Amino acid sequence: MSEWSQAVSGFRASGAAAETISGNRGLQIEENLLFEKDYGGRSGVDLPEPPKVRERIGAVRRKGRIGLPGVSEPQVVRHFTRLSQKNYSIDTGLYPLGSCTMKHNPRLNEKLARLPGFADIHPLQPVSTVQGALELIDRLAWWLKALTGMPAVAMSPAAGAHGELCGIMTIRAAIEARGERRQKILVPDSAHGTNPATAAACGYAVEAIPADPRGRVDLAALEAKLAPDVAAIMLTNPNTCGLFEPDILRIAEAVHRVGAFFYCDGANFNAIVGRVRPADLGIDAMHINLHKTFSTPHGGGGPGAGPVVLSEALAPFAPVPWVVHGKKGFELVEKDKKSLGRLKGFHGQMGMFVRALAYIMSHGADGLWQVSGDAVLNANYLLARLRGELTPAFEGPCMHEVLFDDRFLKDTGVQTLDFAKALIDEGYHPMTMYFPLVVHGALLVEPTETESKDSLDRFADVVLALARRAKAGDAEHFKGAPRLTPRRRLDETAAARKPVLRWRPEGSEKAEAAE
Ligand SMILES: *Cc1c(COP(=O)(O)O)cnc(C)c1O
Repeated sequence: MSEWSQAVSGFRASGAAAETISGNRGLQIEENLLFEKDYGGRSGVDLPEPPKVRERIGAVRRKGRIGLPGVSEPQVVRHFTRLSQKNYSIDTGLYPLGSCTMKHNPRLNEKLARLPGFADIHPLQPVSTVQGALELIDRLAWWLKALTGMPAVAMSPAAGAHGELCGIMTIRAAIEARGERRQKILVPDSAHGTNPATAAACGYAVEAIPADPRGRVDLAALEAKLAPDVAAIMLTNPNTCGLFEPDILRIAEAVHRVGAFFYCDGANFNAIVGRVRPADLGIDAMHINLHKTFSTPHGGGGPGAGPVVLSEALAPFAPVPWVVHGKKGFELVEKDKKSLGRLKGFHGQMGMFVRALAYIMSHGADGLWQVSGDAVLNANYLLARLRGELTPAFEGPCMHEVLFDDRFLKDTGVQTLDFAKALIDEGYHPMTMYFPLVVHGALLVEPTETESKDSLDRFADVVLALARRAKAGDAEHFKGAPRLTPRRRLDETAAARKPVLRWRPEGSEKAEAAE
């Protein structure tokens, strides 16, 4: 079957309305899988015939073909370019996913991360040959300590969730060193899912703390749960409702009174960087998502880095390696009696360290202060523009992200999911939906400081118009969305559990049954 006829029949089989003969929509080109492109052993390279040699492999010699697609260079180029055009990215448009901090990635960071002195070195090289790289790790560590007011930082964790694991393992080691055993970790209801998962992975029982009607931790409920069997609290500040926890000093004091540690999920550090030092809030350990606060491309499981700042009491238990100043320049401590050992091969995500330091140094202290201020300003601008039609979940201003609930959709027949799908047709990646769980039908929007007023206004105009459309009774429009994408609305559960990874030309069921 030719590529073209395969595309046509596959498109029909996919259940999408075949509005065009080819299945293409405008310049959105249909594309099948690379492994389904086998045009008779075609190849992108010409290799000479292998010389005749005496057969020595014997019985293990492969009999048939291994099923690699036979494609020429232009076919490969087209395939991957077409796939890339199906991506939505921060380079394409506003990416309002709350909690994820999808902001512009300065190209300067990318340029510096590609310098051969950073990109082409190997972590097993002799320390004397990588002094510059170690100095960079040390300088970034200095900045992270200065910005948080904390005395130590573990650089190696590879993401936010990995940083949580590092922090809780460090806390557990410190508690065990005191000769104590504690069983519980307190986690507010509004926490990111990684918090209870981390606590459970470290063997702790997770106790939830409810939110109060203002979207903050219920202090009385917290104090009632504090007892000598509590190892730590894991609190996010600003929290996942986009709100600052005003009782944070009292929370820290109450937690310390029972000998527990205060772990802060610092993924939202971008809202306070340069303005508040977590050490001054009584925090003992906090991970920083370099890939959120200090930019760098992330998402889709892409590279992250989650260094953890630590208090004096926790620092001795930090995972190795440690970069230290020695007699002959920078040295690596790879073993230590108290350290909990290695959490990751080598030193951490070097490429991310370069990007983060480039970001920090190009902004400077005053620039970072401006970053958090603009992030909060942009979120509040959207709150002010949207509150006329949407329903803010809580009273008052927000921090770096703004949370709406679904009361504005009441009696319209439209649900949060439908609303988000309609945004896709308008050219926007949806905001975070149904998270946090503390409000009904949540819509969480994080515009970040890198959006211009013009771009925020366009987004707000679209969201307002959609809200009016829902209220005017046009539920049909929302239920049918998205209409303009290569695939229409998927059964998301089935798509996750039983993904169709093959292009299915008509009549393929018979071929499959025969296999
Ligand atoms: C993003 C995020 C995490 C997890 O970070 P990863 O780098 O994705 O592992 C944890 N907590 C909060 C509040 C977050 O926003």
